Amino acid sequence: MNLQVQPKVIIHGGAGSSLHGKGGLESVRRSLYPVVEAVYSLLLSGAAASEAVLLGCQMLEDDPRFNAGTGSVLQSDGQIRMSASFMDGTSGRFSGVINISRVKNPIELVHFLQSSPDRVLSDYGAAELARELQVPLFNALTDLRLKEWMQERQDNFKSTMAGVVAEPELVESSNAGRGTIGVVVLDSFGGLAVGTSTGGKGFERIGRVSDSAMPAGNYATSHAAVSCTGIGEDIIDECLAAKIVVRVTDGMFLKDAMQRSFTEASKNQRDLGAIALDASGAISWGKTSEVLLAAYHDGTSIGDTLEWNNGDLVGCA
Ligand code: ASP
Repeated sequence: MNLQVQPKVIIHGGAGSSLHGKGGLESVRRSLYPVVEAVYSLLLSGAAASEAVLLGCQMLEDDPRFNAGTGSVLQSDGQIRMSASFMDGTSGRFSGVINISRVKNPIELVHFLQSSPDRVLSDYGAAELARELQVPLFNALTDLRLKEWMQERQDNFKSTMAGVVAEPELVESSNAGRGTIGVVVLDSFGGLAVGTSTGGKGFERIGRVSDSAMPAGNYATSHAAVSCTGIGEDIIDECLAAKIVVRVTDGMFLKDAMQRSFTEASKNQRDLGAIALDASGAISWGKTSEVLLAAYHDGTSIGDTLEWNNGDLVGCA
């Protein structure tokens, strides 16, 4: 096979306040690296960007550690409602599902919607689609997330969000943060795609809509692709993913577009993070929060941002 472009991948498992100690970091690393490896090998075999994003998001949704698919956090009424979106930079198509329940992989529905005339479906419509496609019913609830919710209920939902990742020791301390997932890839034909999937902030009001199913949280063109995580309202107010991508599409270097966008977000006291790739293969990430749980393959080796804390708003591989 004649591969024209060196494929690249960057994924995230959320952003937020720091994990407790090294044990937390090592176990997150053990969750992220196999996904980077699997997505990267698929890209090397010549798969299209959209197929690689689908695989990466499925794997991350299936890991109960992250707040997407299995292991999603509960909303204020104790129910799980998941949101996800997908954008293919080559076709320029965005698709999404908002607040869907009882499916294993929201990203599969979103992938299906790429070729549908109606591309963003909310709760009832998304459930109808799942029924039409005969997607089996699935309960994404884990004991740990239930316990976390019960504790918050006792405290009358004082936390603004649920934990970054599901960890027994973190549940005890009700650590604020988030654990949404995202995958951004450049395939060997130069195509970019991005997917983002979430259980939401956790403990939110019924009907709240996450940025993860909006172009503010997940966006791509043929020039760049970005997936965001953090407080959805902050991401929407910055219109972060679309803003970065449009800046690159208009001619800015990715690093400069990230720097300008994160400087603005920081000035506005937002709490968020993002991962990004451009068509030249540049990899970048940024955060205003304490930690960003991201890992990447730059074509030579795997790296991550788990201990990246040098005070910079933006980093590059
Ligand atoms: N951005 C997501 C939301 O607000 C949460 C997250 O990134 O963890 O729904």
